[in-house]
Amino acid sequence: MKILRLKKGFRRSNSHLWIFANEIEDNLKKYEIGELVEVTTSNNRFFGIGYINPHSLIAVRIISRQKKEIDKSFIENIISKAYEYRKVIGYTRYDAFRLFYSESDGLPGLIIDKYGSFICMSVLTAGVERIKDMIFQVLIDMFHPTAIIERNESPFRLQEGLENYSRVVFGKYDGLTVIDEQGIKFAVDLLEGQKTGFFLDQRENRLFLRELLMGRKVEKALDCFSYSGGWGLNMAKATDSEVICVDSSKKALELVNKNARINKLNIKTETADVFDFLKGCHSRGEKFDCIVLDPPAFIKSRTKIKEGIKGYKEINQRAMRLLKTGGILVTSSCSHHMTGELFLEVLKSSAQDAGKVFRVIHKGSQSKDHPVLLSMSETDYLKTIFLENIG
Ligand code: SAH
Repeated sequence: MKILRLKKGFRRSNSHLWIFANEIEDNLKKYEIGELVEVTTSNNRFFGIGYINPHSLIAVRIISRQKKEIDKSFIENIISKAYEYRKVIGYTRYDAFRLFYSESDGLPGLIIDKYGSFICMSVLTAGVERIKDMIFQVLIDMFHPTAIIERNESPFRLQEGLENYSRVVFGKYDGLTVIDEQGIKFAVDLLEGQKTGFFLDQRENRLFLRELLMGRKVEKALDCFSYSGGWGLNMAKATDSEVICVDSSKKALELVNKNARINKLNIKTETADVFDFLKGCHSRGEKFDCIVLDPPAFIKSRTKIKEGIKGYKEINQRAMRLLKTGGILVTSSCSHHMTGELFLEVLKSSAQDAGKVFRVIHKGSQSKDHPVLLSMSETDYLKTIFLENIG
């Protein structure tokens, strides 16, 4: 394994797992893309083992703080630890859960989701690409899956010089699979659906909403940016209200309709841009008892913060206007650059513009199978705020 020396003065606490190109003393040209390196400080003290991408701003990602072989038993160890944790938090009883969450589980660039006997894996970096065959083997030995599906579609891959594609790498997968998510069934498209097929990170928040709505008088509810209806079906299950799911993707709404049928729940769908849809509701004078806003990340990079905030502010302010007194707004941001504090500021100013008073009932975050690495705020991305309109 080649040695890679850090610059003098590199003082960062060693629990952040990324090393940037400008923090490295050695000439990056002598390394191959994705190769393992032994990182040392400028005075030759061992720092960690990582993998390198000489073409990326994030040049090295650390995968071990101890000197050890990065072999099959290393992979077995981290994956079984990740699984044990999901067992302890009770998540292995669910059909679907995130089995491995990148940095937070000890291997930056690797995501593994388990859907019943199917496994979906996303490889986000050149370093993981190099060792992925070992990972497949470990998954096969450990879980005996019916199939492993590689969902390698991400802008991060393109930045790493990798291609985007999805494919079945092991076993047989014929199309949709159905998961039971706390008593609600969802058809999940593991090969072509968004993310790896389902947004697993809102599990606890959706359940919180279901419980919150049970026993409340809810006549009309709206699920904006619904994808396959993760929130909408929960609202329909908790109440006998009219639920409308809105998404710009026809394919997503086909899944909503399918899921509504499987669960015998009454849900309407609207293919529309949420911004326009909310405007339309306002001009028709429609009001709702519960609205969910769970959009894609509006802030994709630090340079886009201002623009993104504008988007969040607009949808929140519009949704707030459409709520009845006593109504609930569930509003999310999955942009890592939007801190929890900033999001609350945005909501505060949206409420001011809407001329309404809200109280915060609950501040939710990503599900426990997406743990946050304390030293890396990048792993902490989801904010889901529950607001009640009190006048
Ligand atoms: N709430 C979903 C996840 C949402 S993902 C769940 O719980 O599973 C974001 C969704 O927003 C995607 O389905 C995407 O198609 C949709 N989308 C993105 N921009 C949109 C827009 N401007 N109007 C409507 N839908 C949009």
